[in-house]
Amino acid sequence: MCGIVGITDAGGVSFSLYYALYALQHRGQESAGITTSDGNRVFKFKREGLVAEVFNQDILESLEGRVGVGHVRYPTTGANLPENVQPFNFQYRDHYFALAHNGNLVNAEELRQEFERRGDIFSTTTDTELIASILIEEYRRAENLEDAVVHCMRTLRGSYSVVMLLDGTLYAFRDPAGIKPLCIGKLPRGYIVASESVAIDALNGELLRDVRPGELIRLDNRGLFSMQIAVANHRAHCIFEYIYFARADAILEGKLVYDVRRRIGGALYDEAPVQADMVSPVPDSGISLAIGYAHRSCIPFLEGLMKNRYMGRTFIKTTQEERERAVRIKLNPIHDHIRDRSVVLVDDSIVRGTTMGHIVDLMREGGAAEIHVRIGSPQIIAPCYLGVDMPTREELIGSNKAVEEVRKHIAATSLHHVSLSALVEAIGLDQQDLCMGCLTGRYPLTIGGEACVPRLIDIVGGTYQTELENFGKGKGNQSLAQ
Ligand code: AMP
Repeated sequence: MCGIVGITDAGGVSFSLYYALYALQHRGQESAGITTSDGNRVFKFKREGLVAEVFNQDILESLEGRVGVGHVRYPTTGANLPENVQPFNFQYRDHYFALAHNGNLVNAEELRQEFERRGDIFSTTTDTELIASILIEEYRRAENLEDAVVHCMRTLRGSYSVVMLLDGTLYAFRDPAGIKPLCIGKLPRGYIVASESVAIDALNGELLRDVRPGELIRLDNRGLFSMQIAVANHRAHCIFEYIYFARADAILEGKLVYDVRRRIGGALYDEAPVQADMVSPVPDSGISLAIGYAHRSCIPFLEGLMKNRYMGRTFIKTTQEERERAVRIKLNPIHDHIRDRSVVLVDDSIVRGTTMGHIVDLMREGGAAEIHVRIGSPQIIAPCYLGVDMPTREELIGSNKAVEEVRKHIAATSLHHVSLSALVEAIGLDQQDLCMGCLTGRYPLTIGGEACVPRLIDIVGGTYQTELENFGKGKGNQSLAQ
């Protein structure tokens, strides 16, 4: 869970990178960083904190150049350490690299040990530095980045969407199963590659398409070039992006997340109808789901909880009392809406079960007569190894308790999770093209001790195709031709 962006723009990139990272802030709040290049010199700034806390006008003005990459971090692999803040910048001979990565490698430990046995040293504990080491291992042979990315796709196991600056050129690539999102947009004077289309929207750009799984993109002053390096028999797009992680206004693999969630909400009513006075979301993650439930059921949509959107990240919650106070500051029940009412309360997922327990308590104290909880994902029963911060099986309530036991635990009147088949139908992609490891315990690649349905991957290598012809028939070409 991280947000990445790369931009080329003849008019300078630092402010555009900043606004793009702002749009991707939901993907990571721990740190933010930008590296830019004017072809000869490199400019960089990264710190722990939110995008608005890390950068200011002076800093952004000092980040010169027409190409750059940015990153917002949510820690998965690699501890919360200042040296792990991305982009990861390094020099090899007289070449300058900056890498920003979203995803998680499952063979990181064995690769790291292999490098360390050979005497290499690492300055961070991130997977990103490992990707850098793999790239350089091949790059030092012929100084050919394309071969280095081929080597990466052969060697790395896991999820990786990467944007990379090499001297004055921007590259982007995505793992062969396309686990984490990455899309390309056209800007008035250049291009953008970003985790979610919301970053393209923020810059008033035009979404062209997703980066294909196994594809390498090169963006330089001659335009956009694509090389298909690896082809998998099936994709493995992260299902949790649709459930919770991506912003509702993002378009992932051609699907507007908001509408996916509305369809899930409709399915929740079909599967578990209830006669109630109102449908309320748990803000913000439950809003589009609750709208879908309300439309299908014709029960009025009415918010029963208001969220304080200015809640600090660093709320220290060590005692139970502090945790309860934190929930109260974050969410306030609207008593006049819920008193003596039967409420359908809709949220995206139950992970540990703590949050929903507190929310049901709040609603009851606020006077709700019945609380029917509807959840837009099946029970989460297994951890994620591929980039979403999901706890171990011991901590996952869905791994240890049946739905009825969870209902009792959170003290809801009723509880229903959407079925896997309805969820997949709402997304609209083939089930075989989704990673559903957290919901099924079966993963799209080999992970020690876990059940797997691995994707078969062919490394096809190849040559660059210019994208100008490909966009020739579509709307995209108009802006490309400008
Ligand atoms: P809990 O069941 O207490 O662990 O909290 C679950 C809620 O946290 C969900 O309703 C989501 O809104 C949110 N959530 C789900 N997954 C994550 C995650 N990986 N990191 C942070 N928040 C999450």
